[in-house]
This record gives sequence, C-alpha cells and structure tokens, in this order.
Amino acid sequence: MKTIGILGIQGAIEEHEAMLQSIGCNTRWVKEAKDLRSIDGIILPGGESTSMGKQLEWSGLMEPLRKAIAKGMPAFGTCAGMILLAKELEGNNLQSRLGLMNIVVKRNAYGSQLDSFVTDLKVKGFAQPLPAVFIRAPRIEACGEGVETLASYKEHPVLVRQGNMMAASFHPELTDCTELHRYFAEQMVSE
Ligand code: GLN
Repeated sequence: MKTIGILGIQGAIEEHEAMLQSIGCNTRWVKEAKDLRSIDGIILPGGESTSMGKQLEWSGLMEPLRKAIAKGMPAFGTCAGMILLAKELEGNNLQSRLGLMNIVVKRNAYGSQLDSFVTDLKVKGFAQPLPAVFIRAPRIEACGEGVETLASYKEHPVLVRQGNMMAASFHPELTDCTELHRYFAEQMVSE
C-alpha cells in the first residue's frame, strides 16, 4: 500500500488525510526530516505559506524536503503548497520556500477571504468537470519550461504539472471529489 505524507505544519492537513485514506492510501504527517524516509509522495497543503516556510527552515526540514522532491519524490502542492513549490513569487521573491517548480506565482491574487469562491474546472484527461474551492488563492502568472497546464480559470493556469510535481491554486480537499487525489496517488506516486 502506498504511503503519502502530508506536510504537517499548519493548514488543511486533516482534510487531505481523510481524502487520501478514503481512496485507500496510508498517510503520515511529515514534520521532520526522518518522516521523509517512510513516504512514497507528499502533499503540501493550503494554509499560510509564510508560516509554513519559516517552520520548514526552523525545523531543518526545508533542505531535506527540497532534495527529496528535486530527486523525484512526487509532490502535490495545493494553494499555499503551490506557493512553497514556486520558483518565482511576484512581489516578495525572498519568502522562504522550496522553489522547485518553473512557475511565477502571485499570492492572494484572487482576492481576500470574502472573495472565496467555488467553481467547476475542465481538467485535461477528466471527462467530468472537477469542483475547486479558491480561498485567498495564489494565481499563476507564467509557466516556464517543462510545465504542463492541466486546467485554467479565466485565462490563467490553475492546475499545472512538471514531472513529479503538481500544483493547484485551489483546494481540492475541501470538496467531496477525490479525483485529483486519485490522479496523484495512482498516476504520480509509485510504491
Ligand atoms: N494566501 C495564502 C498564502 O499566501 C494561501 C491561502 C490558502 O492556502 N488557502 O499563503
């Protein structure tokens, strides 16, 4: 059985955990470097990317996690998790993060908490549209080499993949649709 880790610092950890367990995966909260040894892939949840970045540095997890993903560990970043993966941040490029995906991201570009919305997205490879929840969501402003757009919303990519990494501007774990977790677990993670 595949074991998928969830970065266990802050944010929508339990929601991802419940979703992964409902599709038959083992889960493990990842809080320190040794937790990386027992997982086949990792989800970086939504929450607050600035505090997650700081905690990653303080806990000593930043570098080992960066290395593991750079070497090919499958990773799926949702919302703040996408910010952690982005190589470039518009506005504050100094914010601590993994910085591995060839995307330029602008934080909070879809507005405040009050501007949160739910929409259905046409996703490449899926027959039915998938529901997506946007909460203070980051917007992808540009994609670089090797990045494939799997879904867009109003002309901007919102779901992208670059090899072993996938990133979503939205929260798939706050819907009752498990399709994207299934895609990650089945198509990207191997035991
Ligand atoms: N705005 C948050 C950030 O910048 C992300 C919001 C979310 O993950 N829902 O980190």
